[in-house]
Amino acid sequence: MSEIIAIANQKGGVGKTTTAVNLSASLALENKKVLLIDADPQANATTSLGYSRNDYEFNIYHVMIGSKKLSEIILKTSIDSLYLAPSNIGLVGVEKEFYSSKAKERELVLKEKLDDIKYEYDYIIVDCPPALGPMTINALSAANSVIIPIQCEFFALEGVAQLLNTVRLIRKTINPKLTIKGFLPTMYTGQNNLSKQVFADLSCHFENKLFKDKQNSSYIVIPRNVKLAESPSFGKPIVLYDDRSKGSIAYQTLAKVILEG
Ligand code: ATP
Ligand code: MG
Repeated sequence: MSEIIAIANQKGGVGKTTTAVNLSASLALENKKVLLIDADPQANATTSLGYSRNDYEFNIYHVMIGSKKLSEIILKTSIDSLYLAPSNIGLVGVEKEFYSSKAKERELVLKEKLDDIKYEYDYIIVDCPPALGPMTINALSAANSVIIPIQCEFFALEGVAQLLNTVRLIRKTINPKLTIKGFLPTMYTGQNNLSKQVFADLSCHFENKLFKDKQNSSYIVIPRNVKLAESPSFGKPIVLYDDRSKGSIAYQTLAKVILEG
């Protein structure tokens, strides 16, 4: 069975890409076949896996406009069972074209493209852009579930209500099976009262939607960890850059918890 997970939060810089890349890599190292779809024109997930603009000709934009099949753009990565559907700044064009098109099913383009290949993968992870625009809507329409990274900083929960409304609307209209897999506190600093406050707020509102590490009977939080910020510049997920770092262990634990279901 394949599972499609969108990583979404319209707030910028909260750890979506870091989560998408490192969760994908950690699942792949657990012997799962994983496809990471970069659905953001910023192409940070693509760069994080070591690809630069001139390394590939086609990207998710070409799939969205129908000039390439998804299987034709997929790239290998330095982890055998991890594959990447890359992005490129050209993807901003989808926004314009989609809003000017009257196509009734423009929210379902990614889902249709995924239908061709999804059974080849155990997990398909979609890194969404920081907006509730067409790519995020397409990702949520195609996904079984969504992980919402929440940065443990001031204004952390800003916009979450709007995101939850969008999830509800998509569930009501095009994707009744969409569930919230969990909220993931990111960039957590134990010494910082603000981090603790954000975590307390989150567990107050969404306690049953936090990821739990049953073995250690604790909640999963991603610590602020400089190795997580450094590894993209080496074009590597954290597990290949420093697998003993706290950041790496946190994402490996998240992958295990997700595998346990
Ligand atoms: P955008 O909305 O622009 O797509 P994003 O939500 O994908 O951003 P990231 O790119 O993952 O967020 O993270 C934002 C910045 O914070 C990056 O420079 C990243 O390296 C850094 N970062 C993310 N998570 C951590 C962490 N746990 N510890 C330290 N730095 C982190
Ligand atoms: Mg990002």
